[in-house]
Amino acid sequence: MKYCFGPVPSRRLGRSLGVDILPMKTCNLNCVYCELGITEKFTCDRAEYIPVQEIKQDIETVFRSGRHPFDVLTFTASGEPCLHSRLGELIEFAKALSGKPVVVLTNGTLVGDPVVRHDLCKADIILPSLDAVLPRSFRKVNRPAACVDIESIVQGMTDLSRQFDGEMWLEVLLVKGLNDSDEDIKALKKAIDQIKPCRVQLNSVARPPAEPWAKPVSSDRMEEIRRFLGSRAEVVVDFHSRLKEGFLPVVEVEILETLKRRPMTAYDISEILSIDPEITSTVLDKMLRNSLITKEIFQERTYYRPYAGNKK
Ligand code: SF4
Repeated sequence: MKYCFGPVPSRRLGRSLGVDILPMKTCNLNCVYCELGITEKFTCDRAEYIPVQEIKQDIETVFRSGRHPFDVLTFTASGEPCLHSRLGELIEFAKALSGKPVVVLTNGTLVGDPVVRHDLCKADIILPSLDAVLPRSFRKVNRPAACVDIESIVQGMTDLSRQFDGEMWLEVLLVKGLNDSDEDIKALKKAIDQIKPCRVQLNSVARPPAEPWAKPVSSDRMEEIRRFLGSRAEVVVDFHSRLKEGFLPVVEVEILETLKRRPMTAYDISEILSIDPEITSTVLDKMLRNSLITKEIFQERTYYRPYAGNKK
């Protein structure tokens, strides 16, 4: 699996087969909470960063192997997937091949472009992010490239919501002291009322962030914000896996491939690969001893990630 990963037990979608369509950390934002670290390739240019034929081949191989049962196929990226200029073609291909719903996770910054909206409309579910509407808060939390404009994002999301036949779930990630003030939330509500997404999912910093000083908002404040935003809003709760059946072989390379996408706990890994937690723990200990991975504590949870010196 070169571009596909998982299936990841998504809190919202069930078993989600991820397809990563960009080189590592190619993005037009540099969010303080990004679990992938600081943006390395900061760009607003849409391009075929990875040849579309290679991605299609990988999807086809994974699908035909039948080894990785999934509920949805999710286009995501180690960055912003709408920067791939042939996203629309990839969505069409994945739907025709698998017959499964296709989801796109996007930071939403390019939806002011009608061509991007046309591509996104081929999907079944779109999950755009909108963390802040006030320009100064947007700059603080998302640290955008110069070409990104928050007004055009809100207008683009409004247009997309009108054009799109599927479901649009707006994701809002709140960082303590950066975008959680009453003024921020009032401005956000105004934008949400204009965009009219099907759902609004509130989240906070839950994995090791790019900036260690980025802290989560308290659960009381999250609940207060949820009430203010109205019935469309929900606080995203911990995922309780629906993956209880099936078996995938436990191999270090699969764990490494999965961890390359994002830091994960032993629990996450067990769920994704459908393996016994004790076996996961044994394999992770061995990988730690062999310096294949490292671990770090965040919010009282232990996360694993590939060892930086390991180029495998
Ligand atoms: S969180 Fe997403 S949008 Fe923000 S910098 Fe990371 S990859 Fe880009």
